[in-house]
Amino acid sequence: MLVIGAGPGGYVAAIRAAQHGLDVTLVEKDAYGGTCLNYGCIPSKALVHGGDVAHEARTADHLGIDADVDVDLGRLVDWKDGIVDQLTGGVEGLCKAAGVDLVDGAAQFVDEHVAEIDADGETRTLGFEYAIVATGSRPLEVPGFEPDGGYVLDSRDALELDEVPDSLIVVGAGYIGMELSTVLAKLGTDVTVVEMFDDVLPMYDDDISRVIRERATELGIDFRFGELAADWDERDEGVVVATETEDGDITELSADAVLVVAGRDPVTDTVNFDALGIEPDDDGCVPTDAQGRTDLDHVFAVGDIAGEPMLAHKASYEGEVAADAIAGQPATLDHAAMPAAVFTDPEVATVGLTREEAAEAGYSPVVGQMPMAGNGRALTVEADDGFARIVADEPTGRVLGAQIAAPNASELLSEITLAIEQGLTLSELAGTVHTHPTLSETVMEAAADALGEAIHTR
Ligand code: FAD
Repeated sequence: MLVIGAGPGGYVAAIRAAQHGLDVTLVEKDAYGGTCLNYGCIPSKALVHGGDVAHEARTADHLGIDADVDVDLGRLVDWKDGIVDQLTGGVEGLCKAAGVDLVDGAAQFVDEHVAEIDADGETRTLGFEYAIVATGSRPLEVPGFEPDGGYVLDSRDALELDEVPDSLIVVGAGYIGMELSTVLAKLGTDVTVVEMFDDVLPMYDDDISRVIRERATELGIDFRFGELAADWDERDEGVVVATETEDGDITELSADAVLVVAGRDPVTDTVNFDALGIEPDDDGCVPTDAQGRTDLDHVFAVGDIAGEPMLAHKASYEGEVAADAIAGQPATLDHAAMPAAVFTDPEVATVGLTREEAAEAGYSPVVGQMPMAGNGRALTVEADDGFARIVADEPTGRVLGAQIAAPNASELLSEITLAIEQGLTLSELAGTVHTHPTLSETVMEAAADALGEAIHTR
């Protein structure tokens, strides 16, 4: 089996296939661990932690704690690089231990059963019975704002800065834009976010967006909603970005640089899909069936290249299912319990259906909600913004979804993801004793609220 791309989709597929006894070659042209470990999830979360430490130290005087904070971003980035090296080395070691044949090079298809691999200046061919393509995604380019690593940055550049910029314009208030804006604001940058929609995290419920917007505003982030980044120019060792409203009103914003984080494009142009007759759909993704199979029975596509949500755990899950399917196991993809998290302040985490989606899907939704302000632990960690909300089907009590805005929401969500996966009910969640005092009690209380039995909400 040939696997192309060693991100969370590809390397997990390769290890799982090797566990099934297949003879696996994994080809990676850049770095083991792909976008997630090298330029995405892990480096961004390392910097989120750095931003939190700096900000908490700087703003703790009301707790009787005073600190002078000096941020050396170069050293923070070095520390982050150490974590990345540890994890990417781990991926390489795990693949080798599983018996996966690793090739540092670029692979492309020659025909339906042969690929060409360019490695170390040499080209060789490799025959394969099965292939899994996991070539990931790259930043979506905004016309006129091609990254140059200096004045126009993409997310990868933002994770490699050696100095905290005095000011930055961020184009895009999606999850990557909001995470990076929050980090940089906490490290001391004056951040202005330009977003064509009318709120942050436009794909989320309004009350989630409100919590994140209000907190970001408290951190000093300015927002320009309903504006498009139209043009930029170099001025006074910085940039001037012209934004435009739907009515044609132009505003000029100045900063040290502009960071463009407007979305991600699937990478479908590196493997010569033409040789297989595989064509991307209108969104640029490779269409696949419920096991990740493309139009060709023996070629699978997993991860970002196979479509939204472009998240690492979704890529790994699809990689495992594809490898299981190739090994003849009865594996099938089910995205009903696919979690997502945004590592802002506070974090946002969602899974399953919102109330509206549940109604559209034909359920009779009931909703329970617990505000963080009613939770003792939340107050002790100064986190009374936000809430935990659970959506369920009223007649059966079956849990269908959740939306949480809270510190560690990404961790709190797992309990509800498991509940959806296992078909658990509100009573089963509400009847489970939760440790006190913990933020997780809000999940139990939200379930109880949906049943009309909450103790700590009115
Ligand atoms: P990738 O990780 O992109 O890996 C694809 C690999 O294929 C690359 O290494 C590439 O070099 C290689 N490749 C491409 N073409 C070829 C070829 N022809 N030959 C050989 N190799 C090739 N997701 C989360 O779940 N949580 C997060 O907190 C999170 N944070 C993020 C933060 C940022 C700033 C970014 C940019 C992304 C973040 N993501 C996060 C998204 C996550 O990184 C991706 O969803 C995930 O990496 C997708 O995995 P993948 O295996 O599909 O592709």
